[in-house]
Amino acid sequence: MRRNGSYAENLSKLILELKKEIAQCGECYRFFILNSKKEKLCDNCANLGTDPTTLLVVEKDSDLESVHKSRIYHGKYFILGGLVPIVEKSTKRQVRIEELKNRIKNKGSKLKEIILAFSLSPQGNHTDSYVREQIKDLAEKLNIKISSLGKGLSTGTELEYSDNDTLKNALKNRQ
Ligand SMILES: [Zn+2]
Repeated sequence: MRRNGSYAENLSKLILELKKEIAQCGECYRFFILNSKKEKLCDNCANLGTDPTTLLVVEKDSDLESVHKSRIYHGKYFILGGLVPIVEKSTKRQVRIEELKNRIKNKGSKLKEIILAFSLSPQGNHTDSYVREQIKDLAEKLNIKISSLGKGLSTGTELEYSDNDTLKNALKNRQ
């Protein structure tokens, strides 16, 4: 409040510009910076070199970015948009479970494995069970394996803070 009027004006202009330059990927729901072509997909989803047979499901954008940066995983991603609270009746409004099902239905022919990669917390484990239950029939019908990341991560570990070796082990030991 103590700053002059132009400060607030500049700040609001910057926020508006940022909003114009950021888009949400239509496939993995990641936020990305738009290039001049105004694409609807992020670079990983649009990249033909990305392995279409695996889909890594994570809680949030920062999880995707840390796995992506590690260069250990080369497949597709899906951001669930949150964890499922243990005591909660209306889960559907909180996470993108229907979007995930649609994604599997639309891209299912190429998919061979869905890797659930949530944090090793009670809520992360609960989300793991919830998502498994929700996509079980669909995955079975399309012959897609469901695995969970985590055995290499220590309890309570947040995915985004994991170092490369831990992440590599967790991916190798997924079950
Ligand atoms: Zn994407």
